[in-house]
Amino acid sequence: MLYIVPTPIGNLQDITLRALEVLKTCDAVLCEDTRRTQILLSHFAISKPTFRYNENDDFSIRRCTEVLESGKTCALVSDCGTPCISDPGWRLVKAAVEKGIKVSSLPGPSAVACALAGAGITGGAFTFLGFLPRKPGRAAKLLSGAYGVGNPVVVYESPYRVIKMLGLIAKTLGEDTPVILARELSKVYEEWLRGTAAGLAADLGKKHKVQGEFVMIIDRPHKEEKNEDADF
Ligand code: SAM
Repeated sequence: MLYIVPTPIGNLQDITLRALEVLKTCDAVLCEDTRRTQILLSHFAISKPTFRYNENDDFSIRRCTEVLESGKTCALVSDCGTPCISDPGWRLVKAAVEKGIKVSSLPGPSAVACALAGAGITGGAFTFLGFLPRKPGRAAKLLSGAYGVGNPVVVYESPYRVIKMLGLIAKTLGEDTPVILARELSKVYEEWLRGTAAGLAADLGKKHKVQGEFVMIIDRPHKEEKNEDADF
């Protein structure tokens, strides 16, 4: 049995009761980084064997798959949030499905859902791109294609590249493109920055240092207050 277990994106109190129950009762925890997961497990006084997996390391995938095939109940976690969402883990889920091992996916923290809910811009469709490619040409192409679909676009970004990414959005989609930056969600310094791509790039550029994790939501210039297509 493989349980996919989301873990907090910043605030340890966001772990769910069911996530704790699975972590306490499973036979082994399959993790992206054993040291990071040990910190989480220790915080909740849980002691379990851990196995590291890495999508680019066939050996680690084979070893974790063998643990699953031996009949053990495993919890799959990543460093933060929901495994397989801009995080590794999908190869293990695929292997479990192919081998007929039961998979159960627990709901829980994920930065994309948290940011979109707090943005107040849509209750309906959006396009999630995760991390954009490093090459500006490829990123611009992906961005304009996704934005062309007509829904808000959500991307993940690190503090080191957020200004560069705002510049790319301004250049590709227009300087006045509305952007919402959700920074350090669920943490003490949680912050919401709203403005245009060019304006936010200029504001952040004035800071001595940009810190924290970001979710970027690229909104539409002329929002319709009512979503005619939604059935809720
Ligand atoms: N699997 C995770 C999830 O379900 O959201 C995402 C992991 S991905 C490697 C990490 C990225 O998620 C960060 O670079 C940032 O863009 C976003 N992120 C994670 N935690 C965040 C937080 N507390 N506030 C804002 N963004 C966050």
